Amino acid sequence: MSIATEFQLLPEVQAFLDRESIPAFVGGRELKSPSGETIATIDPGSGQTLSHIHELDAASVDHAVDVANEAFPAWSALSHDERSKILLKLADAVESHKPIIAQIEALDAGKIEAQAQGDVQNFVDTLRYFVKLNGSVELRTKRDVPGFDAWTYKQPWGACAFIFPWNFPFLLIGWGITPALAAGNTVVIKPAEDTSLSALYLAALAKEVGVPDGVINVVTGRGATVGSALTQNADIKRMSFTGSPEVGRIVGETCGRNLVPVKLELGGKGAAVVFDDVDVEDTAEKLVGAITFHSGQVCCDATRWLIHEDIYDEFVGHCIDRMKNIRIGHPLDPNSQMGPVVNPKQCERVLGYEKKGQAEGAECIFGGGPASVSGYTGNYVNPALLAGTLDNVAAREEIFGPVAYLVKFSTEAEAIEMANNTDYGLANSVWTKDDKRAARVAEAMTAGNSWINAHNVFAQGVPYGGVNKSGLGGGVLSAETLMDYYRSTSVVRPL
Ligand code: NAD
Repeated sequence: MSIATEFQLLPEVQAFLDRESIPAFVGGRELKSPSGETIATIDPGSGQTLSHIHELDAASVDHAVDVANEAFPAWSALSHDERSKILLKLADAVESHKPIIAQIEALDAGKIEAQAQGDVQNFVDTLRYFVKLNGSVELRTKRDVPGFDAWTYKQPWGACAFIFPWNFPFLLIGWGITPALAAGNTVVIKPAEDTSLSALYLAALAKEVGVPDGVINVVTGRGATVGSALTQNADIKRMSFTGSPEVGRIVGETCGRNLVPVKLELGGKGAAVVFDDVDVEDTAEKLVGAITFHSGQVCCDATRWLIHEDIYDEFVGHCIDRMKNIRIGHPLDPNSQMGPVVNPKQCERVLGYEKKGQAEGAECIFGGGPASVSGYTGNYVNPALLAGTLDNVAAREEIFGPVAYLVKFSTEAEAIEMANNTDYGLANSVWTKDDKRAARVAEAMTAGNSWINAHNVFAQGVPYGGVNKSGLGGGVLSAETLMDYYRSTSVVRPL
């Protein structure tokens, strides 16, 4: 499909999008929708149709799981070195195709192109991390128990299913599938219907570099049909779901009924606690950077900013100065700092929360409302600062847009109580020059992640996951994650 944009598309991207539709990818082959039904995938920055993905049916999803289970014995039987060689080739290929994948992702997800490049590199780094880590896994571990010759033996599970959201399509695939593959599992990926293109590109690339057919499969379509069929399939050996708590609950219930182990990575309503000893301007700049990064469509964002009363006015002033200058534009425009939100529904959601928040008494102290970008009719919104009390709907519920909610505090205890006044528990940050206070507050905030003088910090090797309404089942990115993709058999012989 030809995209009308003033920005040059890479010839490979143009060729990829030139097809009327891009089928799913199962068993090393394209798989079309049996009914012929397709779904348009749209550039959120311009509203133009990029291509169409195929809406599979439940039988096609079951077929994909069968294919993944059939590919499992051969893939898991490879030695670590043999499997690593193939996976490292995939890492190299993704890295060398970074500009192509990033441009596809920028167009499909409305992500600033440079940030999309960072996401692709993150996939590569995560894959290399897990491949290397897997080399140090001891498959057999002796258990010293008097009277028994005993050991545990670790083996991969089989076909693992993954359902992903639309905000970080390629990066999250990396966080999800790479430990599973390194351990010897095969995977069935269900990307979000709005952002399936990079997953489909990956599956074809994997085949090209020699990943055996059936090891990486991508099924496409709507959540209520294809996602649901994957969740209900009792032959998947594990499920990993990343998305909203509402859908996570359905996925968890269904997997529970089938006794399939499930990992849920869900939403958040993170706090940033800013004490009065910080460099106020620098902190304001960093938090505005965090809330406008990918238009605030970041699960772990700091969306509740708890600011010490002595610096509140100065902090707000710096935030406004900074927000005024954010350049909103098409994701392929190198001058853009903030792109669109993913679809018109998300646009309505963000603007709706701004209205509902104000109707409940919050004050809009800066920005808000739709944004216009000359030459484009995309889903653009302005960043916004709301202020008020923490019982406001905009302070309680996940908005998933560039909207921060500010509240004053006076004591450390009050700040901790405010930070913990949420059902979510994904990520918070504390900002202070006092290291002891930073550590104390970081440990007192109830969440999977507490960051100090920074927000949105990820490192391969540090577990990332949520508690309470933000997730369960293990998290991602660490040695523990790799172990989730091994099951253990205790072998015991009485002496
Ligand atoms: P969503 O829950 O609407 O959709 C996520 C995925 O689930 C999509 O692929 C969708 O097609 C599928 N789905 C929808 N209904 C389904 C069903 N009945 N059965 C099975 N699958 C179904 O979420 P979203 O709007 O795509 O993403 C935004 C949410 O994701 C936010 O809450 C955000 O915080 C969360 N998120 C969490 C993390 C994390 O690591 N904790 C990361 C990114 C996003």
